[in-house]
Amino acid sequence: MRVICKKEQDVGLALQKRDLPPPPKDDEVQVRVTHVGICGTDLHIYNWDDWAKNRLKPPVVAGHEMVGVIVKVGQAVTKYSVGQRVSVECHKVCGICRYCRTGRGHLCFKTSIIGVDEDGVFADYVNLPVSNIWGVDDGIPSHHAAIFDPVGNAMHAVSKAGVAGHSVLITGAGAIGLISIAIARSLGARHISVIEPQSYKLSLAKELGADIALPPGQEANAAILKATGGFGPHCLIEMSGHEKAIENGLDLLQLGGTAVMLGIPSDKISIDLAQSVIFKGITMKGIVGREMFKTWFEVESFMLKNPDAVEKIVSHILPFESYEEGFKLMQQGLCAKVILKLEEDA
Ligand SMILES: [Zn+2]
Ligand SMILES: [Zn+2]
Repeated sequence: MRVICKKEQDVGLALQKRDLPPPPKDDEVQVRVTHVGICGTDLHIYNWDDWAKNRLKPPVVAGHEMVGVIVKVGQAVTKYSVGQRVSVECHKVCGICRYCRTGRGHLCFKTSIIGVDEDGVFADYVNLPVSNIWGVDDGIPSHHAAIFDPVGNAMHAVSKAGVAGHSVLITGAGAIGLISIAIARSLGARHISVIEPQSYKLSLAKELGADIALPPGQEANAAILKATGGFGPHCLIEMSGHEKAIENGLDLLQLGGTAVMLGIPSDKISIDLAQSVIFKGITMKGIVGREMFKTWFEVESFMLKNPDAVEKIVSHILPFESYEEGFKLMQQGLCAKVILKLEEDA
């Protein structure tokens, strides 16, 4: 079978042939992968940046966003059957620690991430534990179901921001920032502003329902303040990880507002804790992964009710073997979500 693999400690990814996986263990299913999503995480791995160097131990098959069809089930598997379409939660957690036992498995400190800490889903076939599998509703097409994972990141962030009836600022309009616009709209946000440097993404932001979508600068700040009666937005949804964007977003946020932080800075950054957080009386929340599996139910509803928004997010569908083109689009910022297709739909 084919895999896209980080072969050695260097830039790039390689298309390789591998043996098929062994039969699934008792609590696993074997899946024929049909579609995978290229994530920002995969780009870090491709670029072999400091984060990737510190985390990965090549050779590792990349990829964690997928949908596929079950081809074999382990002996103890009763809930799923051959032929069923499934996606996967990429965080494998222990299930018995303090966090897992209190419904906070996304914080499990024994987490192993598929496609990062162990072989991932950029492969024709994968074995996956049944505890991580998500059965895909018949009403959701496969090229949407492939991105349950990043739509889940957006859903987790936006739902923690409490946007209903409020004005929202989203800083950074990559795929997760873009889908956050549609989710914020569906959860009842009153006014949505987006700050993003790339013009391709700004026009998509408008299409997805942003009231204001502008590059960073005085014009954007003035427009956002004007639209919020001079107070600034109630909610900041930070998706960029850039120090300047974070600083500016916190500056604009109104007193007593809520900031949810998902964008990951590539290095340590400094913020003015006294002026930007303490004296403003804001609430700041870190967002990691998805709540298992509360977020998945919410994403399922969102995808069933908002297929047009998900369709806009999937900007490119390429053959699996054209992955280099997909990574190039990511590097140039000329895409939202790139999907690689492995097989014709069953
Ligand atoms: Zn991802
Ligand atoms: Zn745990």
